[in-house]
Amino acid sequence: MIKDGFWPEEKRFTKPVRDPYVAMCGACGLSKHCKSPKMPHTGQGRKRILFIAEAPGEEEDRRNVQLIGQAGQFLRRHLAQLHVDLDVDCWKTNAVICRPVNNEKPTSTMINACQANVLATIRKTHPHVIVLLGESANISLLPLIWDGDPTPVGKWVGWTIPSRRFNAWVCPTYHPSFIIRAGDNALELLFHKHLAKFMKLRGRPYSEKPVQEESFVECIYRPAKAARLIREITEGRGPTAFDYETTCLKPDWGEEAKIVSASICWGHNKVAAFPFCGDVPEAMRSYLRCPRPKIASNLKFEERWSRTKLNTRVRNWYWDTMQAAHVLDFRRGITSIKFQAFVLLGVGQYNDTIKPYIESKGTSHLNRMAHAPLNELLVYNGLDSLLEYRVAKIQVNAMREKYKE
Ligand code: SF4
Repeated sequence: MIKDGFWPEEKRFTKPVRDPYVAMCGACGLSKHCKSPKMPHTGQGRKRILFIAEAPGEEEDRRNVQLIGQAGQFLRRHLAQLHVDLDVDCWKTNAVICRPVNNEKPTSTMINACQANVLATIRKTHPHVIVLLGESANISLLPLIWDGDPTPVGKWVGWTIPSRRFNAWVCPTYHPSFIIRAGDNALELLFHKHLAKFMKLRGRPYSEKPVQEESFVECIYRPAKAARLIREITEGRGPTAFDYETTCLKPDWGEEAKIVSASICWGHNKVAAFPFCGDVPEAMRSYLRCPRPKIASNLKFEERWSRTKLNTRVRNWYWDTMQAAHVLDFRRGITSIKFQAFVLLGVGQYNDTIKPYIESKGTSHLNRMAHAPLNELLVYNGLDSLLEYRVAKIQVNAMREKYKE
């Protein structure tokens, strides 16, 4: 069932997202030690913006309202410069809604115990924009939409993630207390820039429920049919993205180093994946030599496998999503296609079923991709190409904007 602004996650290829409905106050215990236990969210939310901070401080606990201490006033001042009133235009809550003893930083056990309250606030308010202030807010919310590590904060700040689950923009930034403590003007300017970017967002990211990308992947099991399609693609025009799934990292590890499957994306929703056997390698060689522009994520990998296994260079490389991610934003840990697809397109991790087959004992060992269920392998392989194509499109525009062509 689709509810306004809150879509249940339907993910065939990822683990179901944990959905806590009841706070585990027994495991947390903070409510027994504060003046305002289980502080409800406050604010009028006229602009449908929800701020999630860390935890109530002493003053907040005394007055039963969030973000009224030094950090809250700091945030208020920055928002006022952007013509946003924290109390009128926004809602406010915390990752833990009872004051921790001695204002200590909440532990992840407390944050997890209280996650159901954050989720309940989102269900009640249906925000368009959810601003995550600092690490505790990240730890509370991001695991509901992303199966990887919600830290470090530095990797997450500034993104405007089009969350499919909440149909809202999820926008992490620093906690104002961190900026105050750091006393660094450059950091304060960056914090202000994040807020300015978030406050410019209008409406929800999606007017209707997005179609799951995996439904676009055409899995072709017969090599002759796949080869015919590859030749048709070769004849066409415009950029394409392609991707290999292989038994190991490097193609020169001998006989056991194999390309198991390949995929090509040649339009926004046009993507096919096929086992790498029969007529496919020869057809792929023609494709690699054709003038169509080519996109990959970490093109070194595809280039090296093409040269070694197909004895051809790749003609007309057009875009590498990994390199482009680095040029656009030089933070560590953000360049993988999975991360880029999440922060730019809202696509959650899609490799859970295939993960046990990707993993190997070390970088110099074979993986088990050749033993993966074929359909799952092809869909995963196809998604890589499709997302590379879509991410590249966004990056091209971002690059043009950054360097003003
Ligand atoms: Fe319960 Fe949350 Fe308060 Fe902990 S912080 S006692 S989980 S309401």
